[in-house]
Amino acid sequence: MEKIQQLAQWLKQSKRAVVLTGAGMSTESGVPDFRSKDGWWRNIDPATVANTQALEQNYDLFHAFYCVRLEALKGCKPHAGHYTLADWERRGLIERVATQNVDGFHRQAGNEAVDELHGSIHAVRCQKCGAAAGEEDFCEKRPCSQCGGKLRPGIVLFGEVLPEEAWNQALEAIQKADLVLVIGTSLQVYPVNQLPRMTSGKLVYINREVEGFEQDFDLIVEGSAKDLLQQIDIILRA
Ligand code: NAD
Repeated sequence: MEKIQQLAQWLKQSKRAVVLTGAGMSTESGVPDFRSKDGWWRNIDPATVANTQALEQNYDLFHAFYCVRLEALKGCKPHAGHYTLADWERRGLIERVATQNVDGFHRQAGNEAVDELHGSIHAVRCQKCGAAAGEEDFCEKRPCSQCGGKLRPGIVLFGEVLPEEAWNQALEAIQKADLVLVIGTSLQVYPVNQLPRMTSGKLVYINREVEGFEQDFDLIVEGSAKDLLQQIDIILRA
């Protein structure tokens, strides 16, 4: 049986399917990922900017980096693969989506049960007092209107703790799942890369680069997230 037919069958049979996505889910929306060949970070190590030290001690670099990302996101939107996942949630084929992405595309596409494990780039707040602020305030480099502190996007920086509620919900769903689809992630970022092994259900990897993961998954489908999700959807509807 073809791999995507197998996967479609598992989706139909499953009672509790959960999806875990990474930056590869959004590259076809025009949002670069971190680690593939044409990723954002080709010439720069993510750990040098996306951390609290850069925020505190190298705010200009930190600020410039995230402003460029926020600006770039304005021209991007969810693609057909995101909409397919939203449709699958409505049809009861998947229970929830846990994501490492900070772009907000799963919610924008219509998924309601979404765990944003690395927060949202759009939820700007003050690093000092936590007060909410606007994206424009951040990009204009305004200080916090409440306390004068530095503004930052509401993402989880390297070295920071993940949002507890999102983590607990994702972990519980994955532990109880009978099928977990891992889509578009290099599985290099801790602790999210530990989540797939928390399930006793079937484990599927959909990614452009799959080398080295053969032992870890029940099924590996190599290719683009957008195309594959659409192809699986066609089989599900046949
Ligand atoms: P990553 O860049 O480490 O890995 C992305 C993986 O997706 C790679 O293995 C790549 O081969 C694969 N890929 C790329 N395009 C694909 C496609 N169209 N279809 C299928 N696979 C594709 O990303 P990660 O594992 O998510 O870790 C990076 C971290 O960076 C995460 O913490 C995330 O929060 C953050 N990030 C988020 C965004 C976003 O919100 N869109 C973008 C870049 C980075």
